[in-house]
Amino acid sequence: MQFRFGLSYILVIVGVLLLLNTYPLLASEDLVFRSKTATMQSGISVMINSLSGLDRLTEENVASVMAIAQDTPFSRIMVTDGTGLVLFDSRETGSAVGDYALFAEIVQALLGFDASSCTYQGGAFRSRAASPVLYQNQIIGAVYAYEYDTEQAALLSDLQSNLLRLSGVIGVVVLVLSLILSKALTQKIGLLLTAIREVREGAYSHRAEIRGRDEIAQIGQEFNSLTDRLQTTETARRRFVSDASHELKTPLAAIRLLSDSILQTENIDPETTREFVSDIGREAERLSRITEDLLRLTRLDSGILEAATEVDVLPVLEQVMRMMSLVAQEKEVDLTYSAAEDCTVMATKDEIHQVIYNLTDNAIKYSASGGAVQVSLSLEDKQVVLSVADHGVGIPEADLPRIFERFYRVDKARSRAAGGTGLGLSIVSDTVKRRGGTVEAANRPEGGAVFTVRWPQLLHPEGGEMV
Ligand code: ADP
Repeated sequence: MQFRFGLSYILVIVGVLLLLNTYPLLASEDLVFRSKTATMQSGISVMINSLSGLDRLTEENVASVMAIAQDTPFSRIMVTDGTGLVLFDSRETGSAVGDYALFAEIVQALLGFDASSCTYQGGAFRSRAASPVLYQNQIIGAVYAYEYDTEQAALLSDLQSNLLRLSGVIGVVVLVLSLILSKALTQKIGLLLTAIREVREGAYSHRAEIRGRDEIAQIGQEFNSLTDRLQTTETARRRFVSDASHELKTPLAAIRLLSDSILQTENIDPETTREFVSDIGREAERLSRITEDLLRLTRLDSGILEAATEVDVLPVLEQVMRMMSLVAQEKEVDLTYSAAEDCTVMATKDEIHQVIYNLTDNAIKYSASGGAVQVSLSLEDKQVVLSVADHGVGIPEADLPRIFERFYRVDKARSRAAGGTGLGLSIVSDTVKRRGGTVEAANRPEGGAVFTVRWPQLLHPEGGEMV
């Protein structure tokens, strides 16, 4: 990636530098060519004017006219007759007088055209121009001028070498900058990649340390917060698996111990055998309760919800109360309830049953014999409120925030003795939250605990139809 970034920077800058080194030079060259052509043409036209009075060109009359025009700035001036024979040549050594000078420009001029050309080569501008000399519209000869200029050429080559130097400096600066920038960029991406790989391999505590505020740093921060959540979930999952296996191991160990005792004790009396087998039965029941609760929680975790229907909570409450009154009687706990009308929520009957059952079961379980449990169903601010209050042991304040966690129990031995799995409140909390409700636990000032569940009430319009 660094290579590709670097290469693209370099390609762009090479393009810019090529343009910088060609366009201004070509433009200046063209400017010089044009100004040279104009100067040559005007110089030649002055000479043509001087020759225009002659009806015929001879060496003598041309020489006398040209003697006056001698101070022209050109390097060489030649005048030919109508056949291209040189009559005058400003060059003294190697004079072409008497020879035919059939240069391209002279030929053009003898055909009646103004001709000019300019080249830049070997550090000099070479300009050539020729025009016809006319007498009564007859071409009687041509004037040819040549200029060899190194002064402007030196200026142009100065400009060229300055541009080259400047390009060199720009090229080096851009190269260094592009290297630094692309390295910084790829370094950040490298850090992010390393972090992703580490986390993928299970190192959930690894974080991407990317400084700055650019997009890559933001991706790094997002990745870190994602990893935070992953770490929390992973920790919870591990704790859950270890708690669950521990919970399952305990009754299994008891079953094994009891069955071993029956098998290994010689002449065991039928009464003891019956007692041990009944203990085995109780432990097996506990195992099935735990697995049932675990299955229920797994279903809640999977997020697949049974379709909610309109549920009137009152009949469900009455059904649970009928069921629990026997348990309460057995424990000599006074179970009473009060209910308001029109407590309709969107959920399933099973869910409502589960919530009321778990809370009432706990309230009776953690009440001493002779205690009382009050269940009430009411409407408050478009919410259906279920409250289960007892006069039992209550919950230590420090444990209150944690009692909805899976397998969390204030008093393990007491919970086990009462047949608890430590999952009842988690199921209540997850079930209620999934339907947009809340659940909270508190201690009553007069002693005992109170659990309050709130579901959004399903409102009916005046016509009695569902909203
Ligand atoms: P368990 O199966 O142990 O009852 P729960 O999830 O239902 O598990 O409850 C978690 C813990 O919260 C219990 O072990 C108990 O310590 C405490 N708890 C729940 N309900 C009550 C209550 N009504 N009074 C006192 N403590 C309670």
